[in-house]
Amino acid sequence: MNIVRTYTRRQVSTATAAPVRPRPACADEDPDLFFPTGNDPAALEQFAEAKAVCARCPLTARCLQTALDRNEAGVWGGTDEQTRRLIKIRTFHGAAA
Ligand code: SF4
Repeated sequence: MNIVRTYTRRQVSTATAAPVRPRPACADEDPDLFFPTGNDPAALEQFAEAKAVCARCPLTARCLQTALDRNEAGVWGGTDEQTRRLIKIRTFHGAAA
């Protein structure tokens, strides 16, 4: 008795391509926008403008967590350094309670 093995090619679907990654809202912005210096009216306006960009970003939560983890300067995840410092203090005291 002869045993004959047959192989068939598996169909590869092109519909299972890699998922589309969300695009950061700041992708086309000048990076300097997110690093205002000082606290004069022009800098405060720049902070507000950067935060407005973050407000329409799909990556805000992840971006904020990165900034918290790395102690980044500038506007990340819709927050400035002062706000992130407060978040860390509140998180520390919340965890200690
Ligand atoms: S949340 Fe982060 S990635 Fe999104 S626009 Fe702001 S700085 Fe860019």
